[in-house]
Parts: sequence; C-alpha cells; structure tokens
Amino acid sequence: MRRDQLKKYSNTFGLVKMTTGAKLHPMKLEKLEDYEKLPEDELVSRIKNLKSLMGSDLVILGHHYQRPKITSLSDFVGDSFGLSDKASKSSGKNIVFCGVRFMAESAAILCQPNQKVYHPDPDAGCPMADMANMKQVTEAWEKITLAQNSSDKKVIPVTYMNSTADLKAFCGEREGIVCTSSNAQKTFEWAFQKSSKIFFFPDEHLGRNTGKKLGIDLDQMILWDPAKPHGGTTPDQVRQSKVILWAGHCPVHMEFKARDIKHVRKYFPNCKVIVHPECDKETVDLADASGSTDFIVKYVAAQPPKSTTFVGTEVNLVTRLQAKYPDRRVFKLQRSLCLTMYQINLSNLCYTIDHLDQLETVELSEAVKSNARVALDRMLNLS
Ligand code: SF4
Repeated sequence: MRRDQLKKYSNTFGLVKMTTGAKLHPMKLEKLEDYEKLPEDELVSRIKNLKSLMGSDLVILGHHYQRPKITSLSDFVGDSFGLSDKASKSSGKNIVFCGVRFMAESAAILCQPNQKVYHPDPDAGCPMADMANMKQVTEAWEKITLAQNSSDKKVIPVTYMNSTADLKAFCGEREGIVCTSSNAQKTFEWAFQKSSKIFFFPDEHLGRNTGKKLGIDLDQMILWDPAKPHGGTTPDQVRQSKVILWAGHCPVHMEFKARDIKHVRKYFPNCKVIVHPECDKETVDLADASGSTDFIVKYVAAQPPKSTTFVGTEVNLVTRLQAKYPDRRVFKLQRSLCLTMYQINLSNLCYTIDHLDQLETVELSEAVKSNARVALDRMLNLS
C-alpha cells in the first residue's frame, strides 16, 4: 500500500499505520464485525498486504467451490485432499483453509508438526459430513458386524473424504480406508480384496455410483438409515449385501436431476453434460461423464472451442470455468450454491490472517490424528 493510499485509508477508518521492515500495513481491527464494515477493495488490499508481509509463512487454500474473490487470493485452488496435501508439503507455518470444517480437519491431519491450521469460520460445516456422526456409525457398525456369519465376519469400513476426522480415525482403527471422488473405484476394489462387504459413509450416491461401476447389482447395495431401527434393514439383508450405504447426501448435488439433462438436450442436442458423482444414480447414468471436481475441470478444458458443455456441480466452480474458457459455451445444469462454503468471505478471511496469534487453531486429539492418518495412508498407498 502506498503512503498516500495509507493516509487516505487511515483518514477513512481512523486507523494507525504500523511498519514491518519497508512495508506498511494498516493496524489490525479488534473484532470481526469491524472487518465486516470494510469495503471489499479494502479487504482485498489488506489481505494482499498481509500475504506479502508474511511471505511463504502463510498459505491460503481455496476450495474449488469458494467465491471468485477468495480463490483469486488463494495460494492453491483445488479439492479438499489435494489442497491439504499441497499445504503439508509447503513451507507455510500458517495454513488458512477456505472451505468447510472437514477440509480444515483434513489439513490438520496431514500437516507437519510445525504447521498450524486455521478455519475462517469454524461454524461452516458440510451438511453431508454432518449426516454421519461417531455415535451413529459406531452403533450401525456393531449391528452390521453382529449380523455377519461367523465364517464371513469381516466388513471393511470406507469413508468418503467428506466426513469428520473421527470417522476417518474410525476407519483407520478397523482396517478401513478413506476415499475421494477421484479414487472411490480403486478404493472399493482394494476393500473387496480384503472382504466381501463394504460399509460406506456418509454419501449414499457416491457409494452407489461407484458400486454400479464395479458391476454390483443394485439389490446388493442396501441403504442404512440411522433414523430407523436396525438402519431400516434386516440382519438377512445385511448378510446378503455387498455394499451397505449410509443414508447421507450432498444437498448441493441433489439439485441436479435427470430431467434437467433431458431438458437441456432438447435445446442443445450436441451438448455434453458432466456431473459430479455425488448426484443421484439416474442423473449420473444419463450424463455423458461424471467425476470429481478436478476431473470436471479437466473435462471442460478438453472440450473444443465453440462446444457446449453443461456442468452439474457447485455454481462457483462453473462460473470460474465460464470465465476461463470464453471460446466455448459452459453452462450450469442448475444454479446450485453451497451455502456453508459461502460462509467464508473476505471479512472472516482478513480477520483470521490478521489475528493468527489470537485465534484457535484446528485441533484434533493425537489418537484421532494418527488413526485418521492410517486410513489416509492406505488410500495414498493405492496410487
Ligand atoms: S458441496 Fe456438498 S459435499 Fe461439498 S461442502 Fe457443500 S454440502 Fe458438503
């Protein structure tokens, strides 16, 4: 910030300037509400200034579904596992994760002992991850394992990356594994080498779509609804099943329906449709392709100029792809916004970076961290 700009800034907000070496930074404000009163360009300027002051000590991670202003300020943009992995390999001592809570937890599992992880809004959770908690999953596990034949007792628990850290640890302790939407198929194959049955949580759709790709009959994939007695199943159904799916879903991806694909194809018969595998089976079956956020990014990049692609995933990613590829038509299949991702904004990001010395870091117990790490390492060893 130039001195004349800083003077204007100080006059406007009654702030005092401080110096760090040759650089100037407006004095930090006391409360989050103070930052919420600042105009966007002031917040952007402050964040850029803090980034330049802290250099490689600060790493800002921006998930694909964050607002454009946040991703443009992020050091890395990507999916939850890729971001945590990159941050853990960086020299950054302070990692600020712009995403939802389970993502910040994943970064805390993977980070080095000298790294601290911060989350700009600790209340921003993922509704799908919150559909399965430790108590419910433990109860289900006891009933599922009790229903097994004595000769075929083994069940492999598989949790999606989009789950709480303690459920990742649960899998680590029970010969289980974590998967992402990119490697779910490979993970299922690994699990089936160890057992004839998988217990998958918390996204029933990713589980069903993956099981279908492996040729498993739909009636061999049963749904475990924690709100119903014995999950809404019978011990016999559990015994005969190959995949037990937790009744959880992503509200953002449930917005995309097969009827939307039929509708756009009526008007754009030559278009391509790509959706995320958290969409329901009928939608995934009808689309031209389905895959993780990284897969979607690559798919759109590979389309020729003047092509038309409809994308079924969170709106912020689609908007960024539209801006990145003006030579082709990239459309939203529906406008679906992740509200909890949207809770991260310039104000709470700026407040966080300005108060790293005062804020709580994302903390996990050593037991959760090491057991979750075991499940993640099993996944990493697959590639
Ligand atoms: S898009 Fe879906 S899975 Fe991702 S954070 Fe939002 S609710 Fe959770």
